[in-house]
Amino acid sequence: MERLLTNDIGPDGPLSAQICLIGEAPGEEEDIRLIPFIGAAGQLLNDSLRTVGLARGSILIHNVFTQQPPKNKIEYFFQDKKMTKLTWEGEEHVAKLKQWLQGLLRVREAGGEAPNIIGALGAKAMLVLTGKKRITKWRGSLLPCTLVPGFKVYPTFHPSYVNRLMNEPSEKILNAEKKKDQQNALPVFLRDLERIGSQSHTTDIVRPMREFEIAKTLTEVSDFFKKYEGCEAMAVDIETFPAKSGPILWCIGFAPTPDYGFCIPILKDRKFYWSTKEEAMVWQMVSKLFLSKTKKICHSFYDILNLGKRYGIRCQADTYEDTMHLHQMNFPYLRKSLALCVSIYTWEPYYKDENKDHLGKRTDGAEYIYNCRDCCVTREIWPVIVRDGLEGGTDKNQEITKYVSPSLVHMQLRGVRIDREKKGFLTIVFNKKANDYEQAIQIASGKPDLNVRSNVQMNSLLYAELECKAQYNHKTGKLSVDKDALNRLIKLYTSPGDTRYQILTNLIEFRKYAKLADTYTKMEIGADGRIYTSYGWITTFRLNSSKSSFGGGGNLQNIPVRTDEGKEIRRLFQADKGKILIASDLAQAEAREVVWAAKDTRLIDLFFKGWDVHWARTKTIFGFSEDLVYEPNAKVSDVYTGESHTMYFYRRLGKTIVHAGNYMMGPRMLQAILIREGVFISEKACKQLLQSNKNNNPLIVRWQQDTIEKVRLDRTLITPLGDRRVFRGRLNDSLFRSAVAYVPQSTVGRILQIAIQEIFDKFPYIDVLLNVHDEVVAQIDKDNETIAQAMIDIRSCMERTHITGGREITIPCDFKIGLNWGDLKEVVE
Ligand code: URA
Repeated sequence: MERLLTNDIGPDGPLSAQICLIGEAPGEEEDIRLIPFIGAAGQLLNDSLRTVGLARGSILIHNVFTQQPPKNKIEYFFQDKKMTKLTWEGEEHVAKLKQWLQGLLRVREAGGEAPNIIGALGAKAMLVLTGKKRITKWRGSLLPCTLVPGFKVYPTFHPSYVNRLMNEPSEKILNAEKKKDQQNALPVFLRDLERIGSQSHTTDIVRPMREFEIAKTLTEVSDFFKKYEGCEAMAVDIETFPAKSGPILWCIGFAPTPDYGFCIPILKDRKFYWSTKEEAMVWQMVSKLFLSKTKKICHSFYDILNLGKRYGIRCQADTYEDTMHLHQMNFPYLRKSLALCVSIYTWEPYYKDENKDHLGKRTDGAEYIYNCRDCCVTREIWPVIVRDGLEGGTDKNQEITKYVSPSLVHMQLRGVRIDREKKGFLTIVFNKKANDYEQAIQIASGKPDLNVRSNVQMNSLLYAELECKAQYNHKTGKLSVDKDALNRLIKLYTSPGDTRYQILTNLIEFRKYAKLADTYTKMEIGADGRIYTSYGWITTFRLNSSKSSFGGGGNLQNIPVRTDEGKEIRRLFQADKGKILIASDLAQAEAREVVWAAKDTRLIDLFFKGWDVHWARTKTIFGFSEDLVYEPNAKVSDVYTGESHTMYFYRRLGKTIVHAGNYMMGPRMLQAILIREGVFISEKACKQLLQSNKNNNPLIVRWQQDTIEKVRLDRTLITPLGDRRVFRGRLNDSLFRSAVAYVPQSTVGRILQIAIQEIFDKFPYIDVLLNVHDEVVAQIDKDNETIAQAMIDIRSCMERTHITGGREITIPCDFKIGLNWGDLKEVVE
């Protein structure tokens, strides 16, 4: 049998090192220079070690396979595609590694100096050393070495994986999960190296000792609550079964300390564990805990929302701590699952798949234990996350988040009344329209069986059969029939007699109605006729909205803003009987923040004078005469597009261009946004318009440059409200764009969140229901006196004066009222 002829690369570094790192196999450079990890992966490893205060020279570095495989493909050493069975050559390498490690172990056992810990770099090293699969799950756990018992192993990512992700331009990464992976790879890898360092002085695997107890009797439950009455903090976690009507509670667990978890079963064998009377007593005790001064620590809003919704549990003000959100305030770009937090803040090994059967399910007993463990780790990570906040200067972020959480919980529990009948009707209308357009496409194409939803079929129809001009998705580089592609094509085939025109116009309409029906009118509503949404924070600390924790609802921020259909959907959202909706909106909020931050006194002055700043800026961008008076329906033409439109149209366009310019978007991004708004402008014209905006706003360009300089210098930005964010990762355009957007977006987001909390605290007669973009929607009694008073009170909370760019700024707030969200009328004061 032939064997590999590449060089056999031995270990590098002192055999007496405390840490040994083991990779997969040498690459091309390693094969030439005869040293492991000397190429690109080695560079990243060296830099990372330096960052965490470890010197490469003090570490012993080796590989599982010591020869470079053909084409650098590690698969060479495995028999199967999944890479679980070694080839004979692979076996030989592993046997050699085993011998080498046994030698090191003998030295250590004889009292000599040898590594105390092995860092397994990547999945293959982890598999060979510990027998474990799935590096993303097991990285961060301290495991016994199965290849040579006596060593402890800490698996982490392979440096090449980190390098690959970091070098991939982020705009090329389409998948949101992969984007998260990209943001997580380096920080997590660094944290892992730090943790390996901290474990390098001993050989023991110290696992947290925890005691778990499952309540069997009511006396045990009451003894538990009595014993821990008045304790400082109690972690709480629920486990649920998914069900159509929303999650069903399985058990609830508590941890007063990291080493003791107590679980109260609610269901056993799918039946109620307690009698009705007993269960009522259990909830009374739980409620007492929530109303006490003890801090309740949960990981995400999920637990508190479900307890609130199903059992009416309410939490005493200032006693709720959320480890997920506090962690997010420290590291907004990191994943926020409990599993990730456990792997970076504790020494609990990965346990999320423990005791699951082949269907991924656990028995009651196993689930109760799992629940106890979740509580204990949540209790353990809480002080670490709070301390990280203090040490990293993100304590203000945490403080604001805690302050605004009660009103967010309230809105998520409150929901909004939906006109059920209208919703059903709208679903029929949208579906009917989608069907009509689908049929029109099938007729125009002469293909009655054409699946209009299939991108493959539409791709072949448009490009192969009808020979439309090829349109590519600039991220994937592949032929595309996405929205952008269709909007470009429709500009090319404009004759109504052309089959391509007929198919394209009908396809655009079909997609619009199919999406409206699928996304909005089908949003599930609760049995109480209300729609619910979940709120969370994004990396700028603005809110996002998604499907509710107890099922149904969805993202309300994506409901189209300007279209008639969007208005129809908003009309479904109704005030409760006898109430009226009052929507308050911060006027041109982010645009103002940018102008103030840029210290652009000319534009600041225009805002102060109460001018229509959007129109003034539109005129300069398009080169219209300065004294052109705004008349929405009057038509004008411009030199960039060579077209003529209404002033209303240009003003809207101007607003989008200013927004894109403020946040340093490129022409392609601007074009994509405009297409989403239903406007097609060539990329060349977009470029010229952005340049015109830039030329007219040198102070904004200077502010952007200053922001970038600041991030280059210390990677840190702090908003006027005190939210601090450290920008980690490669210093590239994508990072600079996020940095420039951070301060204005975060400031406006936080002003809104704080305002909602203040309204909630101070004015109980104002029932806050929604926050979508810069708008806060509440409901109040319908009489004129209440409406007038509510405007005064809401304004006192929304118009928060702060300092941006060294000057005071107060973003004014506008009001609209109406019986439903789609028919709000502006209030002229
Ligand atoms: N990758 C490895 O796994 N080992 C090396 O030595 C270099 C790259």
